[in-house]
Amino acid sequence: TPGIRPLVAGNWKMNGIGASLDELRMIGDGFMRGLDAQTEALVCVPATLLSRAAEILSRTPVRAGGEDCHAKESGAHTGDISAEMLRDAGATHVIVGHSERRTDHGEDDATVRAKAEAAWRAGLVAIVCIGETNEQRQAGQTLDVLSRQIEGSVPASATSANTIIAYEPVWAIGTGLTPTADDVASAHAHIRTRLETKLGAGARNMRILYGGSVKPSNAVELLGVDNVDGALVGGASLKAADFLGIAEAY
Ligand code: PEP
Repeated sequence: TPGIRPLVAGNWKMNGIGASLDELRMIGDGFMRGLDAQTEALVCVPATLLSRAAEILSRTPVRAGGEDCHAKESGAHTGDISAEMLRDAGATHVIVGHSERRTDHGEDDATVRAKAEAAWRAGLVAIVCIGETNEQRQAGQTLDVLSRQIEGSVPASATSANTIIAYEPVWAIGTGLTPTADDVASAHAHIRTRLETKLGAGARNMRILYGGSVKPSNAVELLGVDNVDGALVGGASLKAADFLGIAEAY
């Protein structure tokens, strides 16, 4: 989208131990070698790796992010991590409402919205994930699902500075399947229109990432689609060569 600097964001999910940070070091080095002029880069890592990741990336243009946060700032929530804690560990961004959270932990739109607001409270940018399941797609409900998720998951005071949208068709995540460029174009155009209706003209500059089986070989096609302002990359973000290969699509 004209005027929007693309973002290539990684999502390591429940992968990675200390040794994996070598790949992160290589990602940081790759962006230091000049990719940063075209694109912004972020890698969201498990909370156990966050402070080390942030330290490794601190001398590079690449940012470190969290993969989820609790809506509250602190308290009796064993095992949970607040946005403030992510921020303290060096995060600048946090993913909220990933389909795996929605499925594995029963997160609904209201929960996701509260988490986005928690991210802002801590000074983090929220990456709000939306996307239809295969069943919804087969039933022709894709655009309706996206409308409903934008209505429910994106806070009304979202701006292009504090929020990024990630369109991730659930059936394309980790499957090697991707929508056609035409399908991506129609979904992203729809998301843009709905965001503008909800948030006003400010949504014109809000980044809308595509996510779901992005790899170097399909990045040029997928990231070249209108209203695609970057990628959210799962599996391919674990390998520096793949992640950098995707960023090179710009
Ligand atoms: C994701 O889970 O955010 C994702 C896009 O995964 P993958 O790239 O592995 O499909």
